[in-house]
Amino acid sequence: MYVWVGLWLLAALSGAAGWEEQARTQMVAEIEREFYATSLASGKSALTPKVKRALLEVPRHLFVPEALRSAAYENRPLPIGYGQTISQPYIVALMTELLEPKPEHVVLEVGTGSGYQAAVLARLVKQVYTIEIIEPLASRARARLKAQGYTNVEVRVGDGYYGLKEHAPFDGIVVTAAASHIPPPLVEQLKPGGRMVIPVGGQFLVQSLMLVEKTPKGEVLTRQLLPVSFVPLTGGH
Ligand code: SAM
Repeated sequence: MYVWVGLWLLAALSGAAGWEEQARTQMVAEIEREFYATSLASGKSALTPKVKRALLEVPRHLFVPEALRSAAYENRPLPIGYGQTISQPYIVALMTELLEPKPEHVVLEVGTGSGYQAAVLARLVKQVYTIEIIEPLASRARARLKAQGYTNVEVRVGDGYYGLKEHAPFDGIVVTAAASHIPPPLVEQLKPGGRMVIPVGGQFLVQSLMLVEKTPKGEVLTRQLLPVSFVPLTGGH
């Protein structure tokens, strides 16, 4: 009898895990379709195997409020409290690919939110620093990332407009809230050869996802990629 109960429990548990894996596989297939459809604008037509693996591995359902877990793998943003959102999976994937992450990279994220984008990046680079302006969101993300065993993500509370001077320069900077302009402190804190991905534009206006590249000689090149919709970058700047 104990054997049957044990087997049933095992089947139930592995069934639950199977559902999440299947949902992640479907989410990644949807992301790949959207990559293909938007490749002319974004310059990225497909997921690289390492980013794909990260998306298949990170348990997105653990980054959303419990009541929304069943929707965690839909290709859309979801509310995470305090008027903020976890970004759409396609956008997380695209911003990650645009950074062109490498294992030796040190990356800054502005706008920790749920911590999901930081978790994806942490699987691809050496160190992630992430700044969140809403303290309770930062605390929750920190606890969540710690519980999942991430040791290369540091969550800070503060206004990310000013970056994180003490850990600069960064190989990559990803800003996950829309700014009215590209913050000069972030440009300064980007390494020569580094890349920054940032949505620029007002809350009720069309925003553009922009790629900022600093050449090895320190020249700054900017490119508008595609229209996006992000919550605003707040703070006193
Ligand atoms: N990257 C997040 C994730 O994976 O869940 C989603 C980020 S959400 C779209 C944008 C976040 O940026 C919000 O949590 C918001 O509080 C934060 N934010 C807005 N302005 C900020 C600022 N000046 N400095 C740091 N964080 C800011």
